[in-house]
Amino acid sequence: MSRTAKVNQVILLIMDDVRAEHLFGFIDEGKLPNMALLADKGASCRDCITSFPSITYPCYSNIVIGAYSGYYPKEGSGVVNYHWIGRTDPPSEGKKFPIIRDYGAGRQLWRLGKDLGKTVKTIFEQAGEGNFLSALNVLFRGSEVKIPSDFTSELIFKIAEDAYKNPGDFFPNNEVPRITIIYTPITDELMHKRGFNSKKYINEVLSCDKYLGSLIKTLKNTGHYDDTAICIVSDHGNYAAPNMYDLEPFFQSKKLTQYDPKKGIGDFDAQIGSVGFFNFPGNTWHNHPTIEQLKKFTPIKASSSAINLFELLWEIPETKYMYYRDDDNTPDHGIINLEYKDPKTGKIAKGQIVFEGHGINQKTKYIFEDKELFGYEKHEEAEKLLDDKAHSIDEWLSATYQIDFPMFIDQLPRYFKNPRTCDIMTSTCGELAFGYVHGKTVESSPYSHDIALKKSMTVPMILGGSAEIPNIEIPYCKTTDVVPTLLDLLGIKPHQSVVGKSVFR
Ligand SMILES: [Zn+2]
Repeated sequence: MSRTAKVNQVILLIMDDVRAEHLFGFIDEGKLPNMALLADKGASCRDCITSFPSITYPCYSNIVIGAYSGYYPKEGSGVVNYHWIGRTDPPSEGKKFPIIRDYGAGRQLWRLGKDLGKTVKTIFEQAGEGNFLSALNVLFRGSEVKIPSDFTSELIFKIAEDAYKNPGDFFPNNEVPRITIIYTPITDELMHKRGFNSKKYINEVLSCDKYLGSLIKTLKNTGHYDDTAICIVSDHGNYAAPNMYDLEPFFQSKKLTQYDPKKGIGDFDAQIGSVGFFNFPGNTWHNHPTIEQLKKFTPIKASSSAINLFELLWEIPETKYMYYRDDDNTPDHGIINLEYKDPKTGKIAKGQIVFEGHGINQKTKYIFEDKELFGYEKHEEAEKLLDDKAHSIDEWLSATYQIDFPMFIDQLPRYFKNPRTCDIMTSTCGELAFGYVHGKTVESSPYSHDIALKKSMTVPMILGGSAEIPNIEIPYCKTTDVVPTLLDLLGIKPHQSVVGKSVFR
């Protein structure tokens, strides 16, 4: 144990797709006795804010690295979204044209570690020496990964338990893992298919508590409980859209053709839940278009004159917000344009996020013309930051963690800085969902996550186990604080790319 270390081992449990109010609701009802005990004797937070967009692979990766998207590949994570187009010049991966990444397709998920890039580090890479274990954890870079025969939570927990019972089966030096990440994807699958109120989903969360109890018992039996920290977190919350809408006929009527990465041609590529991510070619598909090019776009099959893509996208039902980058942005300075359409009057209000700096030093200023766009004016703390000054991520977090669009002003520029991101982002704010991916409507379930509303952005954070962990209730934190907090307990300084900070400092 190093001089400043408070524990010898940490175990991080990432449960996919668990909203903070749901998990703490179950705890308050006495349904999660093991998690409740960790929280009661350790530290817990009911307002842990995740990354935007609230989508699995960016949010999940950001937990494991303690950082966010940025100007990849110079800084920040390359895993900017579940779907992205590899717009770099020269093209990525030796391909002639920009690739379409879809982590749900084929074996693309296993590219996560490579896609992440080298400027950010997983918690294992940051910790340096020792035995590191990934119990399924799909972002396993720097660790020993074990994939169970079936992705059930029971088998995944069992891997971690076995590593404490028989460390020699995992590591030649016969020592227990210093850092373990356990990832349970089934909770997410059940949330999408059945919903957060379904018996199946709730039972799966309750089962995870049972498996956690079994793991705790093993830690006690093997004499490791007192010097192990156990952390529970999720990648995002969720929502149910009241209605679904098929956009295939809409794009066909507009004569927009799907981008083909093999031929390098096509008018657009899009992925649309409630949040829409729209990609269009600039001079070529390698380049992002300018605002002028988006306003005067000629589809390949169109016989008529150029169309205005902003006007076209406002025609998508229930669209409330539209965001797009300015033309002359650099990694360290730029503007993200914001528009909000009043559903009653149809009037469009405009604003901007002005960003400067990057990583932990990024500061953002939110300005607007006549009308404030996100409801910040109605909240006393958030209203204070509408002062024509630039603010840090932690200033935005402390002022907005209780309301919708938490930390949003900081998050949007981090997303748009990345060349792998879209050109225009839209949102219905969960009012209508489309399930549209790369030219097809593929999803019919209204249960999802992607939006900036609090229910989709707020996850539980519980940290317990060893008596060395302070017994406190943390009013708010962010998911990128998890890794620096765990490293702090191990007496390790986080990598310079880390944006989060220890909740104990
Ligand atoms: Zn997820």
